[in-house]
Amino acid sequence: MILIVPIGGVERYVVTETARFVGEYYSSFGMRVGISQGIPDTTFFDAYNPRRRQFLGRSFLPRLASLGEEQRADAVLGITSLDLYEEGLNFIFGLAHPGLRAAVVSLHRLRPEFYGETPNETLLVERTVKEAMHELGHVFGLAHCPNVRCVMHFSNSIIDTDMKSPYYCDACRSKLEKNLEGME
Ligand SMILES: [Zn+2]
Ligand SMILES: [Zn+2]
Repeated sequence: MILIVPIGGVERYVVTETARFVGEYYSSFGMRVGISQGIPDTTFFDAYNPRRRQFLGRSFLPRLASLGEEQRADAVLGITSLDLYEEGLNFIFGLAHPGLRAAVVSLHRLRPEFYGETPNETLLVERTVKEAMHELGHVFGLAHCPNVRCVMHFSNSIIDTDMKSPYYCDACRSKLEKNLEGME
């Protein structure tokens, strides 16, 4: 089971639509998706960097992983509105740790209004789905893919995210299938 964890004030429709897409896709591997109770932003206040006004992404993963363990999930994906960063990077759309089987995706820079555009629920869901599929791919052992249409292509900016499809390319999908078969 892939457990999706809403963090803080994320819009419900983003969570349910993302869960629906991921659930439909991963059902072909016999895996289902569940949505857990939300956890508050305050869980991650120690990840806040006041100088950058951002949250350190990696701090989210151990806590998400223990939630996943409690609920016997194969993988856990947090969805947050907080702006995430990693050392050496201005920002990250998301982050995954295959060893912890945990990932997190930030909506902050997926929102059209972040780029001065009109809010657009459909576009926000599309982008969130892509980042969720991408980070889950990492959780299940996929690396970045040179194919710009493949969801495992690295997004340097929102343009890259909008360019790629929400699906794994054939090569990534067969690797994913192999990796999921090998999972206990
Ligand atoms: Zn990546
Ligand atoms: Zn690929």
